[in-house]
Amino acid sequence: MGTRKKVQAFVRVRPTDDFAHEMIKYGEDNKSIDIHLKKDTRRGVVNNQQTDWSFKLDGVLHNASQDLVYETVAKDAVSQALDGYNGTIMCYGQTGAGKTYTMTGATENYKHRGILPRALQQVFRMIEERPTHAITVRVSYLEIYNENLFDLLSTLPYVGPSVTPMTIVENPQGIFIKGLSVHLTSQEEDAFSLLFEGETNRIIASHTMNKNSSRSHCIFTIYMEAHSRTLSDEKYITSKINLVDLAGSERLSKTGSEGRVLKEATYINKSLSFLEQAIIALGDQNRDHVPFRQSKLTHALKDSLGGNCNMVLLTNIYGEAAQLDETLSSLRFASRMKLVTTEPAINEKYDAERMVKNLEKELALLKQELAIHDSLSNRTLVNYDPMDEIQIAEINSQVRRYLEGTLDEIDIINLRQIQEVFNQFRVVLSQQEQEVESALRRKYTLIDKNDFAAISAVQKVELMDIEGNLVGEPDGQSFGLGVAPFSVKPGKKPKTKKTPKDQVSSSARKEGASSPVSGKDFDVASISKTQLIPSSKDGDLKDMLARERETSSIEPLISDSPKEELRAPSTII
Ligand code: ADP
Ligand code: MG
Repeated sequence: MGTRKKVQAFVRVRPTDDFAHEMIKYGEDNKSIDIHLKKDTRRGVVNNQQTDWSFKLDGVLHNASQDLVYETVAKDAVSQALDGYNGTIMCYGQTGAGKTYTMTGATENYKHRGILPRALQQVFRMIEERPTHAITVRVSYLEIYNENLFDLLSTLPYVGPSVTPMTIVENPQGIFIKGLSVHLTSQEEDAFSLLFEGETNRIIASHTMNKNSSRSHCIFTIYMEAHSRTLSDEKYITSKINLVDLAGSERLSKTGSEGRVLKEATYINKSLSFLEQAIIALGDQNRDHVPFRQSKLTHALKDSLGGNCNMVLLTNIYGEAAQLDETLSSLRFASRMKLVTTEPAINEKYDAERMVKNLEKELALLKQELAIHDSLSNRTLVNYDPMDEIQIAEINSQVRRYLEGTLDEIDIINLRQIQEVFNQFRVVLSQQEQEVESALRRKYTLIDKNDFAAISAVQKVELMDIEGNLVGEPDGQSFGLGVAPFSVKPGKKPKTKKTPKDQVSSSARKEGASSPVSGKDFDVASISKTQLIPSSKDGDLKDMLARERETSSIEPLISDSPKEELRAPSTII
């Protein structure tokens, strides 16, 4: 997986008694063909006409049995399809060179059956050898004739004629042909009868629709889906193998066609030349656009040409001298195809529904496990479900009581409850900060320390000294209000107390130093940068806070500092 691989290109020569030994020579390793063309004497003695070509291939099959052809060309790709790799095996070549013989084979003689029936046999045999997997096989048979799509299996009783014409649809999973019937086959015999049905339809259509079967492209597709019976059932693999019998590649000029035949030849020439263009683009590393949509053939094979598939091209050629022109052109196509690289990769899919079901099962099991643990450790029944509003309100109340000092401890029940306790601490803290600030605002006019205009206005009325401290303010820090540190247990007085005098002097000694209960701790309340000015000279903060205590729950926030600190009306932040 992940390694680049060249398209495999084989050549099969149609057996003949009239083989052009002088012109066609195979390399010693049977992996190349040399073509030698006699000089065209009509063009004169001196001409630059090329007469020799050499084509490197993956194998030349001469007088090879159907069995050997299958072993050489298709076996590996089919076997890898069962492991999740898509594959395409394509027969290319001029009409009569043996494409259909290679692909379908001689229907009257079992021994001469072609790649299609052998591939189906291999698939079912391999499925039998893999009892660890549940593998489903489906097949479809598509024919493309004059740029129209035909379902060769549409005659089956349960398919019925397609109302809307078939269309090629692209989705994230790949290409699929809307309207093409796909048939589940649970055994080899079913698959064979489908293949037979398709072949029959191909012949019938050639008579009734006056359609020459060698002028159409046929794509037989085997789709596989494998689920492991032993490992996780969430993951499964899918693959498809396309077995393509292309239309004859002979050139238009040679056929001297007219009318219907000309039309067919034009379509074939176009689609094969678009196939070639797509292949050239695939073979060119610098090209990022491959023109797949130019023809039905390339569009239908978009996810099966190059890409992540195993690709095999079998070029069928004649061995006779008379066909050498076409043979040359077919071999050129084969060598271009060989330049294409693919990156075969397993098509792994995830079954989301099954994953959720499995997780639910796992969760239920873990809950049971917890219940067993609880009962073994003599814990009363603990609920591990997410908390509802009532339970959250109860935790909020516990936290408040804990902060007030009326509750000594919050019992730990489970992780979810611990998290909620912390959460409610934060909720209560932020509420109390707001409450304190609004209480202060009711009593004092707050001036932002950065608001110099306001400060100078206040200074003008001589409420503030030059340093920005309010007149009579010890150091702007020692106001006995703040957030009690967590280390200080609510409701309990701190062990050491400082008199207001002490605080004034200590703070004065070290500017900026703050006691745990100093105004500095108010940073979080975002009022620390604010000067507090009593809105009434007689305002007694202690009284005010005492009142607040009755109406709200701010008292845990009121410092543990000696209450005396609050007495002086001018002792403010
Ligand atoms: P194509 O599909 O390329 O037009 P066919 O497969 O129909 O060509 O072959 C044309 C004829 O040649 C058929 O009668 C076929 O049986 C025969 N033929 C082709 N290749 C072979 C082969 N390797 N061995 C025996 N007969 C062959
Ligand atoms: Mg044919």
